[in-house]
Amino acid sequence: MNALSPIVFTDMDGSLLDHYDYSHSCADELLAQLKSCSVPVIPTTSKTRTECLALRAELNNTDPFITENGAAIYIPHNYFKHVPEDVAITDAYYVKTMVADRAHWQNILAQFGARHAETFISFQQAGIDGIMRLTGLDKSQARRAAQREYGEPIKWLGTAQQYDLFCQHMQSNHAQLLKGGRFIHVSGDCDKGRALAWTMAHFQYNFERPLVSIALGDSANDVAMLEAADYAVVIRSPVHDIPQIHAHNELIVTEQYGPEGWVEGLTKILNKLAINIE
Ligand SMILES: [Mg+2]
Repeated sequence: MNALSPIVFTDMDGSLLDHYDYSHSCADELLAQLKSCSVPVIPTTSKTRTECLALRAELNNTDPFITENGAAIYIPHNYFKHVPEDVAITDAYYVKTMVADRAHWQNILAQFGARHAETFISFQQAGIDGIMRLTGLDKSQARRAAQREYGEPIKWLGTAQQYDLFCQHMQSNHAQLLKGGRFIHVSGDCDKGRALAWTMAHFQYNFERPLVSIALGDSANDVAMLEAADYAVVIRSPVHDIPQIHAHNELIVTEQYGPEGWVEGLTKILNKLAINIE
């Protein structure tokens, strides 16, 4: 019996999924081992609920998941002994939301767009074909990506000077900007770190044993999650520098990219914690 039970929180794009082709095959064996040892793996992503549901099915994952950069936490019914507080109830999930809905943020973007239309393209403006071009996703994947509930991703096309104006407008409307691998996500005051903390508190409330959180991510939008976790793995990216993390006692930066780095980093931490999952 292990002294500490790990809960794994993982970014998807560029972390568990390859940046270029979204593959995860080299992590499948470790994922299966984690599942057989009942170690929860919580997808914690900028992706939508619809995208997460498809990915979880593909990954054979049945754990809670965190969408849209920490905007919402989905917990399957009957996953925990105790029903979480302050949640909405849908057909299959309890949903904890951290921010206002998408229409609210689209209105704020539209106000800026009315004066500076050329400076950005939003998912709403791009449409399904545009999202396919911007991401390399196929049509059904792009449709799932388009079904956002709590914010709006944009691709910035303007100058640095215009970006300053944009930031001022967003700030004055209490919007938050998070830079992901390809897009800037416009939403409310939420992040993956606070979603991790909320989720860990609920795990701890339900599990009568000491828990340890492990987070894995590759981008700036993962920093809050990495800083909030007990153990953090920064996955090296083929397309951008590693994000700046403030002081963290238990931080690993991988040598390898994407899912190879995911396996490398998580294996090191499990070894360090003397957690045997074979
Ligand atoms: Mg990423």
